Amino acid sequence: MAEETIFSKIIRKEIPADIVYQDDLVTAFRDISPQAPHHLLVIPNILIATMNDVSEDDERYLGRMMRVAADLAKQEGIAEDGYRLIVNCNAHGGQEVYHIHLHLVGGKPLGPMLS
Ligand code: C5P
Repeated sequence: MAEETIFSKIIRKEIPADIVYQDDLVTAFRDISPQAPHHLLVIPNILIATMNDVSEDDERYLGRMMRVAADLAKQEGIAEDGYRLIVNCNAHGGQEVYHIHLHLVGGKPLGPMLS
């Protein structure tokens, strides 16, 4: 069983975060250290540590994460110009928080994907 991270506390609103959306399956909030003019994180309300831990039962969470990210891109006004969705996995992927999260970044040209 994976250990809870700070993201579980954000979901339960035990610590402050700029939550922009929450429903029964997912929570979205502004990244505390934005890497672009718009940088949101969309996370499942259950603890899934990494993409390696995703099971068939989790598909509804991942599907909702993608759909909510697309809705939030529109809400942020960045959908038409475009944006990037990123999920980092483990050390080589640069994952720091072991509760899967979809980065929604945009608001400027982002350049090459791998740098
Ligand atoms: O994909 P990775 O694990 O590297 O990203 C974690 C992200 O969580 C970082 O962008 C970091 O700024 C963000 N974070 C946050 N609020 C916290 C802790 C981390 O937005 N309290």
